[in-house]
Amino acid sequence: MDLSAAGAALGSLKTAFDILKTMAGLRDANLVREKALELQGVIYSAQERALTSQAAQSALVKRIDDLETEITRLKAWDGEKERYELKSLGAGVFAYAPKPGMEGSEPEHKLCANCFQHREKSILQQETRHPGRVVMLVCSACHAELVIAGARTAEVSGMIRRP
Ligand SMILES: [Zn+2]
Repeated sequence: MDLSAAGAALGSLKTAFDILKTMAGLRDANLVREKALELQGVIYSAQERALTSQAAQSALVKRIDDLETEITRLKAWDGEKERYELKSLGAGVFAYAPKPGMEGSEPEHKLCANCFQHREKSILQQETRHPGRVVMLVCSACHAELVIAGARTAEVSGMIRRP
């Protein structure tokens, strides 16, 4: 991001002012015309630099706005994450769940541990694949699949026996 454009624009305006001072002392019409052309070029240059400066300023304002939004989101997350703790669902499967007394008005739920590490609150949805065989908690954000009941290996190797 070029932040020197504003300074360059001011430099051009100072040059323009110097040219005007010189012009005030000129009596020769040709010299006046020559200086007027020079002045025109300097003014164009100042205008261009002012526009560049304005664009840089707009980009900065947008960046500040984005950062403020991110700070607000992070502060909200800091408050939210304090409500949860990591829990074992057995067999090396983990998810975050509300701490006792921190459930609030929400129904019982679990959060994806992977998304939680990335400061995202993603509620795991239960799915049953091949009825009665594999019960999973699925994250719709990162597509994590946590097997909480049944054997997934049977599904993979095609060994499921129909009842
Ligand atoms: Zn996830």
